[in-house]
Amino acid sequence: MGGSADRGEGSTMANDALDPHVGVATAVRGDLPALGQDPSRTYRLGIMGGTFDPIHNGHLVAAEAAFDRLGLDVVVFMPAGSPAFKQDKQVSAGEDRYAMTLLATSDNPHFTASRFEVDRAGITYTAETLTRLREIYPNNVEFYFITGADAIAEVVTWRDAGTIARLAHLVGATRPGYDLESARRAFAEASCEFDVTYLEIPALAISSSYLRERVSAGQSLRYLTPDVVTGYIHKHELYGAHGGRYGQGRGL
Ligand code: ATP
Ligand code: MG
Repeated sequence: MGGSADRGEGSTMANDALDPHVGVATAVRGDLPALGQDPSRTYRLGIMGGTFDPIHNGHLVAAEAAFDRLGLDVVVFMPAGSPAFKQDKQVSAGEDRYAMTLLATSDNPHFTASRFEVDRAGITYTAETLTRLREIYPNNVEFYFITGADAIAEVVTWRDAGTIARLAHLVGATRPGYDLESARRAFAEASCEFDVTYLEIPALAISSSYLRERVSAGQSLRYLTPDVVTGYIHKHELYGAHGGRYGQGRGL
């Protein structure tokens, strides 16, 4: 199943195959958006990584703000296979996290979801993902890695942070009033130079943990994530969703 319309209108597989500029990329691109066809211009690929267990409106609003403010061509949501930071935690199956991400992004023409990390064995490291993406995309495609305010300052401590600095611009989605001092200090003191843009987005104090807690307590997810995601959670009985058909009598 395709991620979205963002495979690039007018760039059919046949056209790509004839274009030596993207010919190699076509073979390994899988469900990644097609970008880079016109060598005379630069393209901006937004990459939203995360566990997405489940995806919620905070992720979607942050990605949309990055798309608007940085003039991105497309944002690809990439659920982590086995997330580096959640080795000690119970994480839902990659297949479910990918399915929910695909559902949540499917009505936005400039969002797409990719199996790129889910299909990979082993722990997911951002530096490795960016390196593999760099091999796939031509040089006129720039990467914008989007993270939330809670994660941005940590990037300098991630494995192969220098590779991340070299391969991607960083976009930190912050809430109004969020103290950026520690993030700014971390980047100023880092041994490599990062290109960071901070974006203020509407206050969305939403997290996947909060959604999981609400589901297990039988509470509604309305307005916290697209209804189609809520439906999937109940249909597949994720996060302790039990019995009761979705939407029947319990205000879900
Ligand atoms: P958990 O509660 O399980 O930690 P989470 O809500 O933080 O989940 P992740 O999948 O860990 O979701 O987050 C993926 C990315 O989205 C991270 O960069 C994170 O900082 C960012 N993010 C998460 N929630 C928000 C939000 N409400 N607003 C902006 N960015 C967010
Ligand atoms: Mg988190």
